[in-house]
Amino acid sequence: MTGFRGKCALVTGAAGGIGAEVVRMLRAEGALVAVADREVAGLEAEAHLPGDLRDGSYADGLPGAALAALGGLDIVVNNAGVITRGRVTETTDDDWALSLGVNVEAPFRVSRAAIPLMAGAGGAIVNVASCWGLRPGPGHAVYCMTKAALASLTQCMGMDHAHQGIRINAVCPNEVNTPMLRTGFARRGFDPDTAVLELGKTVPLGRIAEPGDIADVILFLASDAARYMCGALVEVNGGKAVG
Ligand code: NAD
Repeated sequence: MTGFRGKCALVTGAAGGIGAEVVRMLRAEGALVAVADREVAGLEAEAHLPGDLRDGSYADGLPGAALAALGGLDIVVNNAGVITRGRVTETTDDDWALSLGVNVEAPFRVSRAAIPLMAGAGGAIVNVASCWGLRPGPGHAVYCMTKAALASLTQCMGMDHAHQGIRINAVCPNEVNTPMLRTGFARRGFDPDTAVLELGKTVPLGRIAEPGDIADVILFLASDAARYMCGALVEVNGGKAVG
């Protein structure tokens, strides 16, 4: 991968499984990175912007804060996300507000604030949706809906802002070996290592994704190699399509 030297990037969910790998890889390629998450103290980065994405004013202010700290803003990765499980009848008001707030409202707010800042020189926004946003899986109604909303928002923004030289795309992973997946297994009483191995047998490639498998595609979409891609939903699934 080339072309990131001196580029300025904002990554949300930077302390998580996929986010931390995106930050590491962008920095290894020479980018300056602002990390956003609830806790960012231990993360190596050029700027640290801790906060809760459910706080609208924090999300609204993130792109401007990244630009001020880094001296520019070329790339935004809307990666932060939460998963709530259950059918609609098992979904609480808190689940609804949390899922919509982090998975939909925050990328909306961050993108809305970033686009005018990028409009002069152009840039790239990469959203982390899910294959469950393309075709839903069972028992995760609100999570699937939020990822479908983010996928649709990506397609709309990809169309609407291409003329400003801003490319907006999404990566849609299937299962990834991160804390999100592993804590879910642990909560349901499974050993995460065993469960990850078992789940890997259901994937045609023979294993679930590691964070780097997804981060590579995020960097591709953020790079000039994807210069003609706008509003694309890129499924990264090891051959295991849902539905
Ligand atoms: P993760 O739980 O390791 O990371 C998510 C990060 O988002 C965490 O660091 C968390 O602190 C941050 N975050 C959550 N709520 C926040 C809030 N209110 N304010 C600020 N930060 C907040 O999970 P991950 O697997 O690395 O997930 C990254 C993205 O990938 C998510 O959008 C997720 O939905 C998506 N995804 C994951 C999988 C998977 O199997 N792991 C599959 C498809 C899509």
